Amino acid sequence: MSSNNNQRKSVRHSEHISESPINKEIAGQARNDARTSALARTSALNCQFIKSSPSLKECPISEMPEYAFIGRSNVGKSSLINMLCMNSSLAKTSATPGKTRLINHFMINESWYLVDLPGYGYAKVSKKMRKDFEKTLFNYLSKRENLYCVFVLIDSRLPPQANDMEFINRLGEMQIPFAIVFTKTDKTTRKQLTDNTKAFTDEMLKTWEEMPKCFYSSATTKKGREEILEFISVSQSAVTQNS
Ligand code: GDP
Repeated sequence: MSSNNNQRKSVRHSEHISESPINKEIAGQARNDARTSALARTSALNCQFIKSSPSLKECPISEMPEYAFIGRSNVGKSSLINMLCMNSSLAKTSATPGKTRLINHFMINESWYLVDLPGYGYAKVSKKMRKDFEKTLFNYLSKRENLYCVFVLIDSRLPPQANDMEFINRLGEMQIPFAIVFTKTDKTTRKQLTDNTKAFTDEMLKTWEEMPKCFYSSATTKKGREEILEFISVSQSAVTQNS
């Protein structure tokens, strides 16, 4: 891929982000509203499992804002979801990574959907299974109209991984808004965290004009919970104010 192509891609992405619900300026105006619900973010959320869908067409019909979580198998996605919801068994922490291939919808506080997407990059499934699921996944990601943001989870203990970069670049090509969550930060030293996130940023900036919103999380210490929930709350207020 030529650097020109990459540049075009990142410009398109930036334009998309600035038109999207997470537009910084509008988000700034909405910040005050969001602060009023800060108290709610320190307590458990009201989470209701809605359904598991094998593909987009089986997903719940709804205009509720939707926020999806995805990452490589074992990145800590289930743990993060359970930590956000303060419910230790909402998403199943994976005993057999790569097995679940469903789009799981949870309704949060009767106002938004949290979507638990299957992990990618698990080596022990067949090539065909992986290809089929990738098709289903990108069909959902590119066509789900109420999808506001995809949280891409990155294991903070590791240097940049090729399949994470490929996934992120594909989101860019399809102009799907996303944010990054560096997980398991309690398992890293400060230096390791700095080195890995810098290497990740350097790698991304080879293709992208700017970094998306990044969060640092730990399911053990609950680090990042308030920031992620505030981001979700602000982006919803922004859209409400804009409509
Ligand atoms: P998933 O496959 O992405 O859903 O990953 P899981 O949530 O099942 O986590 C994989 C493993 O990492 C489990 O043993 C978790 O207990 C552990 N884990 C996940 N998140 C954290 C974290 O923030 N800190 C620590 N110390 N361990 C974590």
